[in-house]
Amino acid sequence: MSADFAQLAGEIGKIERGGADVVHLDVMDGCFVPNMTIGPPVVASIRGCTRLPLDAHLMMQRPDRFLDAFLDAGVDWLSVHVEADAHLDRTLNHIRSRGARPGIALNPATPLALLEEALPLADFVLVMTVNPGFGGQKFIPSMLKKIDRLREMIVSKGYRTRIEVDGGIGPDNLGEVLEAGADIIVAGSAIFGFPGGASAAVAEMKRIAAGGHKGGAGRPG
Ligand code: ZN
Repeated sequence: MSADFAQLAGEIGKIERGGADVVHLDVMDGCFVPNMTIGPPVVASIRGCTRLPLDAHLMMQRPDRFLDAFLDAGVDWLSVHVEADAHLDRTLNHIRSRGARPGIALNPATPLALLEEALPLADFVLVMTVNPGFGGQKFIPSMLKKIDRLREMIVSKGYRTRIEVDGGIGPDNLGEVLEAGADIIVAGSAIFGFPGGASAAVAEMKRIAAGGHKGGAGRPG
């Protein structure tokens, strides 16, 4: 959501050249969050301009109504908010049955306890480290402990669930987020607002990430 929406193909080309692994798409409905972004037709157009996996993060009420529309548009990873879907079990199973990777997203104030039953059904958990709705917000420091506790929860149960962290991450705090146990890092304004350009920002964050971290579940592949 931090890219120039009128130049999406060019913006995606920049992050590809920097070495990005995944394109993260923030879908906002103007109801679950106080902002609106893109829907399935735009996602389908993006699908046509990159070979990178598309990771759609549905910040919307009742995401179950739109799962097939986003899957038909070509997303590879699809996460829904635990706060917005009363039938998470059905939703996650449906995403997997369509050949995509299901994920569960949590707002900063949502306790990890809500994940307990659904965790085995998800390939990844998306921890929001800002309140969703706008780009350019500051990382909430207490979320580091939440990431760490989630990592412990996953390891203690023997799952391979990966942890994706989204919100306020850039070169300055990337190291501590990885150290807390993140496997997948989302960055928006840190990339598209980087003085040296988006390609250089991605390359710099990849360089920092290559320094190693303790998240044991492996890299996305
Ligand atoms: Zn997101």
